[in-house]
Amino acid sequence: MLIDARSLSEGALIEADIAIIGAGAVGIAMARSLRGQGLKVAVVESGGFEYDDATQALYAGETSGNPTAALDVGRLRYLGGTSNHWAGYCRPFEPIDFEARPWVPLSGWPLRRADLDPYYAKAHGVLELQAYDYRPERWAKDMAPLLREPFMQGGRLYAAVFQQSPPTRLGERYRDDLEKAPDVAVYLWANVVRIGLDAGAKRVEGLDLACLEGPRFRLRAKEYVLATGGIENARLLLASNDVAAGGVGNAADWVGRCFMDHPGYEAATLVLSAPSDLARAPASQIVDTAVALAPEVLRREKLLNPLFQLHPAALGAGEPEGYAAFRNLTKALRRGQVPDGWAGMLGDVVADLDGAVSGMWQRFMADITALEVRIHPEVAPNRDSRITLLDERDRLGLPRVHLHWQLSEIDRRTIRRGLEILGEEVGAAGLGRLQLHDWVQEANFDVPGDGSYHHCGTTRMSDDPKAGVVDRDCRVHGMENLSIAGSSVFPTCGYANPTLSLVALGLRLADHLKAKRA
Ligand SMILES: Cc1cc2nc3c(=O)[nH]c(=O)nc-3n(C[C@H](O)[C@H](O)[C@H](O)COP(=O)(O)OP(=O)(O)OC[C@H]3O[C@@H](n4cnc5c(N)ncnc54)[C@H](O)[C@@H]3O)c2cc1C
Repeated sequence: MLIDARSLSEGALIEADIAIIGAGAVGIAMARSLRGQGLKVAVVESGGFEYDDATQALYAGETSGNPTAALDVGRLRYLGGTSNHWAGYCRPFEPIDFEARPWVPLSGWPLRRADLDPYYAKAHGVLELQAYDYRPERWAKDMAPLLREPFMQGGRLYAAVFQQSPPTRLGERYRDDLEKAPDVAVYLWANVVRIGLDAGAKRVEGLDLACLEGPRFRLRAKEYVLATGGIENARLLLASNDVAAGGVGNAADWVGRCFMDHPGYEAATLVLSAPSDLARAPASQIVDTAVALAPEVLRREKLLNPLFQLHPAALGAGEPEGYAAFRNLTKALRRGQVPDGWAGMLGDVVADLDGAVSGMWQRFMADITALEVRIHPEVAPNRDSRITLLDERDRLGLPRVHLHWQLSEIDRRTIRRGLEILGEEVGAAGLGRLQLHDWVQEANFDVPGDGSYHHCGTTRMSDDPKAGVVDRDCRVHGMENLSIAGSSVFPTCGYANPTLSLVALGLRLADHLKAKRA
């Protein structure tokens, strides 16, 4: 059922077994998974069916430190959440990402990759990916020949395969499922403004909700799941501070801390010794591939887990719009799908025909003499990278947030040393020389750009209540009936984009709640 919360009466009380706050990627994945269990599920979603300025403005806040996108730009606030403009790149975290690595501060998940594998496979269905298989040999025909070269396989480097979701816009794709589910009620235009606790701060007693143009009302449930994204999860916990002074789940002062994103930017140029076709991706390509460092190298060099994306320099990240539209269109068609918005894509190709043609020339015909190297590295959790509340409030009275993100020494060392190793390997293979861009050579560089909109870490997972906010089942420490879904629970962030992992964790949490309520 889809319900317009603006039509509820002032002070109404809704009751449910499970309340999910936020109908973004993970909120929708969980709601679908909880269907047919004899449970009454209520999902409350801030926005409606499409973008609107007034709702989006609730996300505005301030940023400082390492450059990052404005807070009302890097996420979206309506049904489907930020999946309404995600790019769809997916890869599970590496086994080493889950390990406690003595050289990485605060590292170590209470879970192993094997615990998540069955849920990664299920998340593949939700995100409309292909088989849960990321072995380079499975995708060899889709990789540029360079990534199949011996020095890229089995030595210090490896080809990291990323599958591509269409990309699934979960609000549009699963709207029908939600509408038809008799046991799931999605309340739209409904903003949670307070998580209400009992006097002992052990249980959530109810949620206070408000519509921008409409009533204030309450929701009472047996279990609550906070699924409002990597920044907003922390904001709601911190702002709900009337019973627990530091906010919900914040007895050990971890809520909002350890913010992580993937700094993504061009960091070097690989000048090839001779024009070469090695880096040309095959026309049949349906996955993306990048280069990463073997786990033994990370252990030996005491590095985080960096990733390097190599593009022919003439295209790079700044490829012409017309060509980007052509590429997205043909990629979907090769998968046998007609992509959402295909007419718009075709229009973009026509509007930038010159760009489309020059992109195709570069991609398929022109000599490739250099590659742009773009980094997408893991960064370390750092307590000083954090979300705090400002005095200024939004239209509904909730304090706005300040995000401060700073890199630490191991982040910079990983980027520099990782690039050096890449340079050593391509040099030894006689392929060319790696020229670092100036900013990488500055002593205390920040990474230019906007970050990657991968907001992780602000309600970190740990078995020790003194070292994190949620336990291995995503339940908030010290709380009987509050869990958190989303990348805010990641203790470390690997190099892989987060959505596949956060959906997998959400599906695991849904199974846990089913078992708990059975
Ligand atoms: C341009 C861009 C490209 C991206 N590309 C990729 C990619 O290629 N691969 C990848 O893995 N990830 C990518 N991401 C990140 C990806 O979009 C997010 O990881 C994912 O959407 C997070 O899912 P979520 O459900 O946790 O949060 P969201 O999808 O943001 O959903 C949160 C939901 O909560 C709602 N909400 C917020 N506050 C409240 C409140 N107070 N009350 C009620 N509801 C509320 C919001 O309206 C929203 O619907 C990209 C992001 C951007 C911006």
